[in-house]
Amino acid sequence: MTDTVKYTLSESDLPTHWYNLAADLPQPLPPVLHPGTKQPVGPEDLAPLFPMALIQQEVSTEREIEIPRPVRDIYRQWRPTPLYRARRLEQALGTPAKIFYKYEGVSPAGSHKPNTAVAQAFFNKEAGIRRIATETGAGQWGSALALSGALFGLDIDVYMVKVSYQQKPYRRALMEAYGARCVPSPSAETASGRAVLAQYPDSRGSLGIAISEAVEIAAGRPDTNYALGSVLNHVLLHQTVIGLECQRQMQLADAWPDVLVGCTGGGSNFAGMVFPFLGDQLRTRRSMRIVAVEPAACPTLTRGRYAYDFGDTAHLTPLVKMHTLGSTFVPPGFHAGGLRYHGMAPMISHLLNLGLMDAVAYTQNDVFSAGVQFARAEGILPAPEANHAVKGAIEEAVRCREEGVARTILFNLCGHGHFDMQAYMDYFAGKLEDRTYDEAELAMALAGLPAVA
Ligand SMILES: *Cc1c(COP(=O)(O)O)cnc(C)c1O
Repeated sequence: MTDTVKYTLSESDLPTHWYNLAADLPQPLPPVLHPGTKQPVGPEDLAPLFPMALIQQEVSTEREIEIPRPVRDIYRQWRPTPLYRARRLEQALGTPAKIFYKYEGVSPAGSHKPNTAVAQAFFNKEAGIRRIATETGAGQWGSALALSGALFGLDIDVYMVKVSYQQKPYRRALMEAYGARCVPSPSAETASGRAVLAQYPDSRGSLGIAISEAVEIAAGRPDTNYALGSVLNHVLLHQTVIGLECQRQMQLADAWPDVLVGCTGGGSNFAGMVFPFLGDQLRTRRSMRIVAVEPAACPTLTRGRYAYDFGDTAHLTPLVKMHTLGSTFVPPGFHAGGLRYHGMAPMISHLLNLGLMDAVAYTQNDVFSAGVQFARAEGILPAPEANHAVKGAIEEAVRCREEGVARTILFNLCGHGHFDMQAYMDYFAGKLEDRTYDEAELAMALAGLPAVA
Protein backbone atom coordinates (compact mmCIF):
# COMPACT_ATOMS: atom_id res chain seq x y z
CA MET A 1 0.00 0.00 0.00
CA THR A 2 1.50 3.32 -1.01
CA ASP A 3 0.15 6.04 1.21
CA THR A 4 -0.13 9.74 1.07
CA VAL A 5 2.87 11.42 2.72
CA LYS A 6 2.45 14.61 4.75
CA TYR A 7 5.16 17.25 5.15
CA THR A 8 4.50 19.49 8.14
CA LEU A 9 6.48 22.49 9.31
CA SER A 10 6.56 23.67 12.90
CA GLU A 11 5.10 27.03 13.94
CA SER A 12 8.59 28.46 14.14
CA ASP A 13 8.92 27.84 10.37
CA LEU A 14 6.07 30.27 9.64
CA PRO A 15 7.45 32.87 7.18
CA THR A 16 8.20 36.25 8.78
CA HIS A 17 8.06 38.14 5.46
CA TRP A 18 5.93 38.08 2.34
CA TYR A 19 7.76 37.81 -0.99
CA ASN A 20 7.27 40.61 -3.54
CA LEU A 21 7.78 39.43 -7.13
CA ALA A 22 7.94 43.07 -8.32
CA ALA A 23 11.56 43.06 -7.08
CA ASP A 24 12.54 40.36 -9.59
CA LEU A 25 10.38 41.15 -12.65
CA PRO A 26 12.45 41.42 -15.85
CA GLN A 27 10.19 44.33 -16.92
CA PRO A 28 8.12 46.52 -14.59
CA LEU A 29 4.32 46.30 -14.55
CA PRO A 30 2.49 48.77 -16.82
CA PRO A 31 1.15 51.63 -14.65
CA VAL A 32 -2.40 51.79 -13.29
CA LEU A 33 -4.22 54.72 -14.98
CA HIS A 34 -6.73 57.25 -13.73
CA PRO A 35 -9.99 56.65 -15.68
CA GLY A 36 -10.50 60.38 -16.32
CA THR A 37 -7.01 61.70 -17.08
CA LYS A 38 -5.53 58.39 -18.33
CA GLN A 39 -2.41 59.35 -16.35
CA PRO A 40 -0.77 56.98 -13.82
CA VAL A 41 -2.61 57.07 -10.48
CA GLY A 42 -0.80 58.23 -7.35
CA PRO A 43 -1.23 57.03 -3.75
CA GLU A 44 -3.64 59.92 -3.04
CA ASP A 45 -6.04 58.63 -5.75
CA LEU A 46 -6.36 55.34 -3.88
CA ALA A 47 -6.49 56.81 -0.35
CA PRO A 48 -10.33 57.01 -0.18
CA LEU A 49 -10.45 53.22 -0.58
CA PHE A 50 -7.36 51.70 1.06
CA PRO A 51 -5.11 52.37 4.08
CA MET A 52 -1.71 53.83 3.16
CA ALA A 53 0.17 50.70 4.31
CA LEU A 54 -1.63 48.62 1.64
CA ILE A 55 -1.19 51.33 -1.02
CA GLN A 56 2.55 51.27 -0.32
CA GLN A 57 2.59 47.47 -0.68
CA GLU A 58 0.68 47.84 -3.94
CA VAL A 59 3.53 49.83 -5.53
CA SER A 60 6.48 48.45 -3.58
CA THR A 61 9.47 46.92 -5.34
CA GLU A 62 11.12 45.73 -2.12
CA ARG A 63 11.73 42.00 -2.23
CA GLU A 64 10.64 41.18 1.32
CA ILE A 65 7.87 42.84 3.31
CA GLU A 66 7.49 41.97 6.97
CA ILE A 67 4.32 40.19 8.11
CA PRO A 68 3.18 42.15 11.20
CA ARG A 69 3.34 40.09 14.39
CA PRO A 70 -0.45 40.26 15.10
CA VAL A 71 -1.06 38.85 11.59
CA ARG A 72 1.46 36.07 12.15
CA ASP A 73 -0.18 35.28 15.50
CA ILE A 74 -3.48 34.69 13.70
CA TYR A 75 -1.86 32.77 10.80
CA ARG A 76 -0.42 30.42 13.43
CA GLN A 77 -3.89 29.06 14.20
CA TRP A 78 -3.78 27.06 10.92
CA ARG A 79 -0.38 27.82 9.34
CA PRO A 80 1.99 26.44 8.22
CA THR A 81 -0.54 24.44 6.19
CA PRO A 82 0.30 20.85 5.19
CA LEU A 83 1.95 19.75 1.95
CA TYR A 84 1.10 16.24 0.80
CA ARG A 85 2.56 13.83 -1.70
CA ALA A 86 -0.44 12.30 -3.49
CA ARG A 87 0.92 8.75 -3.66
CA ARG A 88 -2.51 7.16 -3.97
CA LEU A 89 -3.49 9.52 -6.81
CA GLU A 90 -0.17 8.79 -8.56
CA GLN A 91 -0.94 5.09 -8.28
CA ALA A 92 -4.51 5.50 -9.54
CA LEU A 93 -3.16 7.38 -12.58
CA GLY A 94 -0.33 4.90 -13.15
CA THR A 95 2.02 7.84 -13.62
CA PRO A 96 5.75 7.99 -12.98
CA ALA A 97 5.23 11.64 -11.92
CA LYS A 98 5.49 12.74 -8.31
CA ILE A 99 2.43 14.79 -7.42
CA PHE A 100 2.53 17.17 -4.44
CA TYR A 101 -0.26 19.43 -3.26
CA LYS A 102 -0.43 22.25 -0.76
CA TYR A 103 -3.68 22.24 1.21
CA GLU A 104 -5.15 25.64 2.08
CA GLY A 105 -8.56 24.24 3.09
CA VAL A 106 -7.45 23.97 6.75
CA SER A 107 -8.11 27.67 7.42
CA PRO A 108 -11.25 28.51 9.45
CA ALA A 109 -12.99 29.79 6.30
CA GLY A 110 -11.89 26.75 4.29
CA SER A 111 -9.67 28.42 1.68
CA HIS A 112 -6.52 30.51 1.13
CA LYS A 113 -8.51 33.77 1.35
CA PRO A 114 -7.89 34.47 5.08
CA ASN A 115 -4.15 34.87 4.26
CA THR A 116 -4.96 38.29 2.84
CA ALA A 117 -8.25 39.00 4.67
CA VAL A 118 -6.50 38.93 8.05
CA ALA A 119 -3.70 41.19 6.79
CA GLN A 120 -6.10 43.66 5.17
CA ALA A 121 -8.28 43.84 8.30
CA PHE A 122 -5.15 44.46 10.40
CA PHE A 123 -3.87 47.36 8.27
CA ASN A 124 -7.36 48.93 8.11
CA LYS A 125 -7.79 48.66 11.87
CA GLU A 126 -4.37 50.28 12.37
CA ALA A 127 -5.49 53.17 10.13
CA GLY A 128 -8.57 53.80 12.30
CA ILE A 129 -11.14 52.43 9.85
CA ARG A 130 -14.42 51.11 11.35
CA ARG A 131 -16.08 49.38 8.43
CA ILE A 132 -15.00 47.53 5.28
CA ALA A 133 -17.26 47.12 2.23
CA THR A 134 -16.49 44.32 -0.17
CA GLU A 135 -17.95 42.02 -2.80
CA THR A 136 -18.03 38.25 -2.92
CA GLY A 137 -18.78 35.75 -5.65
CA ALA A 138 -19.07 32.23 -4.30
CA GLY A 139 -18.84 33.56 -0.73
CA GLN A 140 -15.28 32.40 0.01
CA TRP A 141 -13.86 35.92 0.13
CA GLY A 142 -16.86 37.29 2.04
CA SER A 143 -16.52 34.63 4.73
CA ALA A 144 -12.74 35.18 5.01
CA LEU A 145 -13.22 38.92 5.47
CA ALA A 146 -16.16 38.37 7.84
CA LEU A 147 -13.89 36.14 9.95
CA SER A 148 -11.18 38.81 9.94
CA GLY A 149 -13.69 41.52 10.84
CA ALA A 150 -14.74 39.47 13.85
CA LEU A 151 -11.09 39.06 14.93
CA PHE A 152 -10.25 42.78 14.65
CA GLY A 153 -13.61 44.32 15.63
CA LEU A 154 -14.50 45.77 12.20
CA ASP A 155 -17.97 45.95 10.63
CA ILE A 156 -18.06 44.06 7.32
CA ASP A 157 -20.62 44.74 4.56
CA VAL A 158 -20.56 42.11 1.82
CA TYR A 159 -22.21 42.63 -1.58
CA MET A 160 -22.77 39.07 -2.74
CA VAL A 161 -23.40 38.23 -6.41
CA LYS A 162 -27.14 37.48 -6.44
CA VAL A 163 -26.92 34.10 -8.15
CA SER A 164 -24.52 32.90 -5.42
CA TYR A 165 -26.60 34.52 -2.68
CA GLN A 166 -29.45 32.30 -3.84
CA GLN A 167 -27.40 29.18 -4.61
CA LYS A 168 -25.13 29.31 -1.54
CA PRO A 169 -27.22 30.06 1.55
CA TYR A 170 -24.68 28.29 3.79
CA ARG A 171 -21.86 30.65 2.84
CA ARG A 172 -24.14 33.55 3.62
CA ALA A 173 -25.02 31.99 6.98
CA LEU A 174 -21.31 31.62 7.77
CA MET A 175 -20.69 35.32 7.02
CA GLU A 176 -23.62 36.25 9.24
CA ALA A 177 -22.39 33.93 11.98
CA TYR A 178 -19.12 35.93 11.96
CA GLY A 179 -21.20 39.10 12.29
CA ALA A 180 -21.05 40.46 8.71
CA ARG A 181 -23.97 42.00 6.80
CA CYS A 182 -24.63 40.28 3.50
CA VAL A 183 -26.52 42.05 0.67
CA PRO A 184 -27.53 40.43 -2.65
CA SER A 185 -26.02 42.37 -5.56
CA PRO A 186 -27.22 44.21 -7.61
CA SER A 187 -28.96 45.93 -4.67
CA ALA A 188 -31.01 49.09 -4.29
CA GLU A 189 -28.46 50.39 -1.72
CA THR A 190 -26.16 52.00 -4.31
CA ALA A 191 -26.50 54.07 -7.47
CA SER A 192 -24.53 51.40 -9.40
CA GLY A 193 -26.89 48.67 -8.21
CA ARG A 194 -29.99 50.71 -8.97
CA ALA A 195 -28.69 51.47 -12.49
CA VAL A 196 -28.28 47.76 -13.25
CA LEU A 197 -31.70 46.91 -11.77
CA ALA A 198 -33.37 49.62 -13.84
CA GLN A 199 -32.01 48.08 -17.03
CA TYR A 200 -32.09 44.39 -16.00
CA PRO A 201 -34.58 43.84 -13.14
CA ASP A 202 -33.79 40.09 -13.15
CA SER A 203 -30.00 40.54 -13.15
CA ARG A 204 -28.21 37.60 -11.50
CA GLY A 205 -25.33 39.90 -10.72
CA SER A 206 -21.61 39.57 -11.41
CA LEU A 207 -18.41 40.28 -9.55
CA GLY A 208 -17.96 43.42 -11.67
CA ILE A 209 -21.33 44.79 -10.47
CA ALA A 210 -20.74 43.82 -6.83
CA ILE A 211 -17.31 45.53 -6.90
CA SER A 212 -18.97 48.73 -8.16
CA GLU A 213 -21.39 48.66 -5.23
CA ALA A 214 -18.72 48.10 -2.58
CA VAL A 215 -16.37 50.72 -4.07
CA GLU A 216 -19.19 53.26 -4.22
CA ILE A 217 -20.02 52.74 -0.52
CA ALA A 218 -16.36 52.94 0.55
CA ALA A 219 -15.61 56.03 -1.56
CA GLY A 220 -18.59 57.84 -0.06
CA ARG A 221 -17.83 57.32 3.65
CA PRO A 222 -14.68 58.38 5.50
CA ASP A 223 -14.93 55.62 8.15
CA THR A 224 -15.36 52.92 5.49
CA ASN A 225 -12.74 51.35 3.25
CA TYR A 226 -12.89 48.83 0.46
CA ALA A 227 -11.16 45.45 0.32
CA LEU A 228 -10.59 43.19 -2.66
CA GLY A 229 -9.96 39.46 -2.25
CA SER A 230 -7.86 38.98 -5.38
CA VAL A 231 -6.31 40.74 -8.41
CA LEU A 232 -4.39 43.55 -6.64
CA ASN A 233 -0.63 43.34 -6.07
CA HIS A 234 -0.92 43.54 -2.29
CA VAL A 235 -3.39 40.64 -2.25
CA LEU A 236 -1.03 38.47 -4.30
CA LEU A 237 1.80 39.53 -1.97
CA HIS A 238 -0.07 38.33 1.14
CA GLN A 239 -0.72 34.96 -0.48
CA THR A 240 2.99 34.26 -0.96
CA VAL A 241 3.08 32.63 2.49
CA ILE A 242 1.74 29.62 0.57
CA GLY A 243 4.68 29.30 -1.82
CA LEU A 244 7.27 30.24 0.81
CA GLU A 245 6.07 27.38 3.00
CA CYS A 246 5.98 25.07 -0.05
CA GLN A 247 9.64 25.81 -0.76
CA ARG A 248 10.64 24.63 2.72
CA GLN A 249 8.35 21.62 2.50
CA MET A 250 9.70 20.58 -0.91
CA GLN A 251 13.17 20.69 0.65
CA LEU A 252 11.90 18.42 3.44
CA ALA A 253 10.62 16.08 0.73
CA ASP A 254 14.02 16.29 -0.97
CA ALA A 255 12.29 17.31 -4.21
CA TRP A 256 11.70 20.41 -6.33
CA PRO A 257 8.81 21.05 -8.75
CA ASP A 258 9.30 20.86 -12.52
CA VAL A 259 5.67 21.85 -13.01
CA LEU A 260 3.53 24.24 -10.94
CA VAL A 261 -0.25 24.24 -11.38
CA GLY A 262 -2.92 26.49 -9.90
CA CYS A 263 -6.43 27.67 -10.70
CA THR A 264 -7.04 31.31 -11.57
CA GLY A 265 -10.08 33.43 -10.87
CA GLY A 266 -8.41 36.74 -10.13
CA GLY A 267 -5.04 35.04 -9.71
CA SER A 268 -4.29 35.23 -5.99
CA ASN A 269 -3.96 31.60 -4.91
CA PHE A 270 -2.01 30.82 -8.06
CA ALA A 271 0.34 33.76 -7.44
CA GLY A 272 0.67 32.81 -3.79
CA MET A 273 2.05 29.42 -4.66
CA VAL A 274 3.94 30.32 -7.83
CA PHE A 275 5.63 33.68 -7.15
CA PRO A 276 8.29 32.53 -4.64
CA PHE A 277 9.29 29.72 -7.05
CA LEU A 278 9.19 32.06 -10.05
CA GLY A 279 11.37 34.60 -8.23
CA ASP A 280 13.85 31.83 -7.56
CA GLN A 281 13.68 30.83 -11.24
CA LEU A 282 14.24 34.42 -12.42
CA ARG A 283 17.26 34.81 -10.10
CA THR A 284 18.84 31.39 -10.75
CA ARG A 285 17.56 30.59 -14.28
CA ARG A 286 16.21 27.26 -13.07
CA SER A 287 13.57 26.14 -15.57
CA MET A 288 10.02 25.30 -14.58
CA ARG A 289 6.67 24.90 -16.34
CA ILE A 290 3.99 27.11 -14.75
CA VAL A 291 0.36 26.48 -15.68
CA ALA A 292 -2.74 28.51 -14.81
CA VAL A 293 -6.03 26.64 -15.15
CA GLU A 294 -9.27 28.51 -15.77
CA PRO A 295 -12.85 27.60 -16.67
CA ALA A 296 -13.76 27.48 -20.37
CA ALA A 297 -16.90 29.43 -19.38
CA CYS A 298 -14.82 32.42 -18.18
CA PRO A 299 -11.65 32.13 -20.30
CA THR A 300 -9.84 35.32 -19.28
CA LEU A 301 -6.22 34.25 -19.85
CA THR A 302 -6.76 31.88 -22.77
CA ARG A 303 -9.21 33.98 -24.81
CA GLY A 304 -9.30 37.47 -23.29
CA ARG A 305 -7.45 40.48 -24.64
CA TYR A 306 -4.40 42.02 -22.92
CA ALA A 307 -5.60 45.61 -22.64
CA TYR A 308 -6.42 48.44 -20.25
CA ASP A 309 -9.84 47.87 -18.71
CA PHE A 310 -11.94 48.74 -15.68
CA GLY A 311 -12.08 46.35 -12.74
CA ASP A 312 -15.82 46.83 -12.34
CA THR A 313 -18.99 47.20 -14.37
CA ALA A 314 -19.93 50.78 -13.37
CA HIS A 315 -16.39 52.01 -14.24
CA LEU A 316 -15.56 53.45 -10.82
CA THR A 317 -12.14 51.74 -10.57
CA PRO A 318 -8.85 52.83 -12.17
CA LEU A 319 -7.79 51.31 -15.49
CA VAL A 320 -5.42 48.36 -15.22
CA LYS A 321 -3.66 46.49 -17.99
CA MET A 322 -4.78 42.89 -17.78
CA HIS A 323 -6.25 39.99 -19.69
CA THR A 324 -9.93 40.82 -19.83
CA LEU A 325 -13.18 39.62 -21.35
CA GLY A 326 -14.56 43.18 -21.08
CA SER A 327 -16.01 44.73 -17.94
CA THR A 328 -19.58 44.18 -19.15
CA PHE A 329 -18.99 40.42 -19.56
CA VAL A 330 -21.43 38.56 -17.29
CA PRO A 331 -20.36 34.94 -16.98
CA PRO A 332 -23.09 32.29 -16.83
CA GLY A 333 -24.31 31.16 -13.41
CA PHE A 334 -22.15 28.06 -13.44
CA HIS A 335 -20.88 26.76 -10.16
CA ALA A 336 -17.17 27.47 -9.86
CA GLY A 337 -18.26 30.86 -8.56
CA GLY A 338 -14.84 32.09 -7.46
CA LEU A 339 -13.56 31.92 -11.02
CA ARG A 340 -16.17 34.19 -12.60
CA TYR A 341 -14.28 37.48 -12.85
CA HIS A 342 -13.97 39.24 -16.23
CA GLY A 343 -10.37 40.33 -15.58
CA MET A 344 -7.16 38.97 -14.11
CA ALA A 345 -4.44 40.14 -11.75
CA PRO A 346 -2.23 42.57 -13.74
CA MET A 347 0.83 40.80 -12.39
CA ILE A 348 -0.34 37.42 -13.80
CA SER A 349 -1.34 38.99 -17.12
CA HIS A 350 2.10 40.58 -17.34
CA LEU A 351 3.80 37.19 -16.76
CA LEU A 352 1.67 35.49 -19.41
CA ASN A 353 2.47 38.30 -21.81
CA LEU A 354 6.20 37.92 -21.10
CA GLY A 355 5.95 34.19 -21.83
CA LEU A 356 6.90 33.22 -18.28
CA MET A 357 3.84 30.99 -17.80
CA ASP A 358 1.10 29.12 -19.68
CA ALA A 359 -2.68 29.02 -19.34
CA VAL A 360 -5.22 26.31 -20.16
CA ALA A 361 -9.03 26.16 -19.89
CA TYR A 362 -11.31 23.19 -19.14
CA THR A 363 -15.08 22.71 -19.11
CA GLN A 364 -16.71 22.02 -15.79
CA ASN A 365 -17.81 18.39 -16.21
CA ASP A 366 -14.17 17.43 -16.88
CA VAL A 367 -13.12 19.53 -13.93
CA PHE A 368 -15.60 17.92 -11.50
CA SER A 369 -14.67 14.48 -12.77
CA ALA A 370 -11.05 15.23 -11.82
CA GLY A 371 -12.14 16.53 -8.40
CA VAL A 372 -14.11 13.35 -7.68
CA GLN A 373 -11.19 11.18 -8.77
CA PHE A 374 -8.97 13.18 -6.42
CA ALA A 375 -11.43 12.84 -3.50
CA ARG A 376 -11.61 9.07 -3.98
CA ALA A 377 -7.82 8.76 -3.96
CA GLU A 378 -6.80 11.41 -1.43
CA GLY A 379 -9.89 11.78 0.76
CA ILE A 380 -10.18 15.57 0.49
CA LEU A 381 -13.14 16.97 -1.45
CA PRO A 382 -11.86 20.06 -3.28
CA ALA A 383 -13.75 23.32 -3.84
CA PRO A 384 -15.07 23.56 -7.42
CA GLU A 385 -12.41 26.21 -8.10
CA ALA A 386 -9.67 23.92 -6.79
CA ASN A 387 -10.95 21.16 -9.09
CA HIS A 388 -9.48 23.19 -11.96
CA ALA A 389 -6.02 22.86 -10.41
CA VAL A 390 -6.62 19.16 -9.78
CA LYS A 391 -7.61 18.71 -13.44
CA GLY A 392 -4.52 20.59 -14.58
CA ALA A 393 -2.24 18.50 -12.37
CA ILE A 394 -3.83 15.23 -13.54
CA GLU A 395 -3.34 16.26 -17.18
CA GLU A 396 0.35 16.95 -16.48
CA ALA A 397 0.70 13.58 -14.72
CA VAL A 398 -0.97 11.76 -17.60
CA ARG A 399 1.42 13.48 -20.01
CA CYS A 400 4.31 12.17 -17.88
CA ARG A 401 2.89 8.66 -18.22
CA GLU A 402 2.56 9.01 -22.00
CA GLU A 403 6.07 10.44 -22.39
CA GLY A 404 7.58 8.10 -19.80
CA VAL A 405 9.07 11.04 -17.89
CA ALA A 406 9.00 11.29 -14.08
CA ARG A 407 8.44 15.01 -13.51
CA THR A 408 7.62 16.52 -10.12
CA ILE A 409 4.28 18.34 -10.11
CA LEU A 410 3.12 20.71 -7.38
CA PHE A 411 -0.38 22.16 -7.29
CA ASN A 412 -2.35 24.32 -4.93
CA LEU A 413 -5.45 22.75 -3.40
CA CYS A 414 -6.77 26.17 -2.45
CA GLY A 415 -9.94 25.14 -0.59
CA HIS A 416 -12.33 22.39 0.43
CA GLY A 417 -15.74 21.91 -1.16
CA HIS A 418 -17.90 21.33 1.92
CA PHE A 419 -20.05 24.39 1.16
CA ASP A 420 -20.37 23.38 -2.49
CA MET A 421 -22.24 20.11 -2.22
CA GLN A 422 -25.10 21.42 -4.37
CA ALA A 423 -22.62 21.75 -7.24
CA TYR A 424 -21.47 18.15 -6.65
CA MET A 425 -25.09 16.98 -6.52
CA ASP A 426 -25.77 18.74 -9.82
CA TYR A 427 -22.66 17.14 -11.30
CA PHE A 428 -23.72 13.64 -10.18
CA ALA A 429 -27.23 14.29 -11.55
CA GLY A 430 -25.75 15.23 -14.93
CA LYS A 431 -27.11 18.77 -14.62
CA LEU A 432 -23.89 20.76 -15.11
CA GLU A 433 -23.76 22.49 -18.48
CA ASP A 434 -20.51 22.82 -20.37
CA ARG A 435 -20.36 26.29 -21.81
CA THR A 436 -17.89 27.69 -24.27
CA TYR A 437 -18.16 30.80 -26.43
CA ASP A 438 -17.80 31.54 -30.08
CA GLU A 439 -15.68 34.50 -31.12
CA ALA A 440 -18.70 36.72 -31.81
CA GLU A 441 -20.01 36.37 -28.25
CA LEU A 442 -16.63 37.27 -26.77
CA ALA A 443 -16.17 40.17 -29.17
CA MET A 444 -19.30 41.88 -27.85
CA ALA A 445 -18.04 42.70 -24.36
CA LEU A 446 -14.55 43.42 -25.74
CA ALA A 447 -15.94 46.03 -28.11
CA GLY A 448 -16.59 48.23 -25.07
CA LEU A 449 -12.95 48.39 -23.90
CA PRO A 450 -11.87 51.94 -22.96
CA ALA A 451 -9.64 53.77 -25.43
CA VAL A 452 -6.14 54.29 -24.05
CA ALA A 453 -3.51 55.99 -26.21
C1 LIG B 1 -11.67 32.87 -4.41
C2 LIG B 1 -11.21 31.54 -4.70
C3 LIG B 1 -10.54 31.26 -5.91
C4 LIG B 1 -10.32 32.27 -6.99
O1 LIG B 1 -9.56 33.39 -6.61
P1 LIG B 1 -8.02 33.52 -6.92
O2 LIG B 1 -7.72 34.92 -6.55
O3 LIG B 1 -7.81 33.26 -8.36
O4 LIG B 1 -7.32 32.56 -6.04
C5 LIG B 1 -10.10 29.99 -6.12
N1 LIG B 1 -10.29 29.03 -5.21
C6 LIG B 1 -10.92 29.24 -4.04
C7 LIG B 1 -11.08 28.11 -3.08
C8 LIG B 1 -11.40 30.51 -3.75
O5 LIG B 1 -11.99 30.74 -2.58
